[in-house]
Amino acid sequence: MTRSLSPLLAGLMLLGAAFVQAQAAPAPTPPAAESFRLGRLRLTALRDLQNVVPNDGAVFGVGVGPAAVAQVLAAAGAPTDRIALGVDALLVRGDGRVMLFDTGLGPTVNGQLVASLALAGVKPDQVTDIFITHSHFDHVGGLATGDGALAFPHAVIHMSNREWAFMRGQARAKALVALIGPQVRPFEPGVEVVPGVRAVALYGHTPGHTGYEIASGKARLMDIGDSAHSAIVSLARPDWDISYDQDRAAGRASRRAVLLRMAATHEWVFAPHFPFPGVGHIEAKGQGFVWAPDKL
Ligand SMILES: [Zn+2]
Repeated sequence: MTRSLSPLLAGLMLLGAAFVQAQAAPAPTPPAAESFRLGRLRLTALRDLQNVVPNDGAVFGVGVGPAAVAQVLAAAGAPTDRIALGVDALLVRGDGRVMLFDTGLGPTVNGQLVASLALAGVKPDQVTDIFITHSHFDHVGGLATGDGALAFPHAVIHMSNREWAFMRGQARAKALVALIGPQVRPFEPGVEVVPGVRAVALYGHTPGHTGYEIASGKARLMDIGDSAHSAIVSLARPDWDISYDQDRAAGRASRRAVLLRMAATHEWVFAPHFPFPGVGHIEAKGQGFVWAPDKL
């Protein structure tokens, strides 16, 4: 099926304009899938892409400058001229559902999500539920196939009502909104969207940005979405502005709040932009936090 291919692709590219401008042209990354258990559930981190943002003061550490950002990177033993980011999604299987949290950039920008999903033994038409943290291109781009059709034809798409309103208000998202509209089921903040998946309002990055807390028995994992982008800089200096946040003050506040909570509860965290597989724990350190990746 081809459905208004050009407007859809043009819209996707525009949606991602800030993302794409902020990095070197993303090259294809080999697909990858890393599975682990959370209570009765089987979780799998899925790689869509890897990319790199130059440390030039335009994205990270807005207002503090590249030298200060370089100091933080150096202290973590990382290269100081660039910030490495993943683009990942999370697959959750159990209780009769096949659930996908965000959908990556999609095939129009070399996203490998569907190939990673295949590594986990899942076909797109088996996905029953998709949970969108927010409507930026690197999270919703994968909702469309390369030829402009629905990528997950049998899935209900869950998105906060505020985010869906935000997305519908963007002219450049019009074609994608038309494509996915019949599948979208918006929800109120704080609800248990499906049994074991609770929506957590983390506004600021976008007007309806939402994290998801996944629970099975006593086990908990929080998908923090884009509350933090760099596993180094965003954690060490959560109060520094990032250009990706639409409302920077609200973004700072919700970032610090969720990191504080994750450090206190010590539950598992999935962060789609941390180095693949993006699963670990948050620990308090100094004026900020540090990422403790888990070996899966
Ligand atoms: Zn993102």
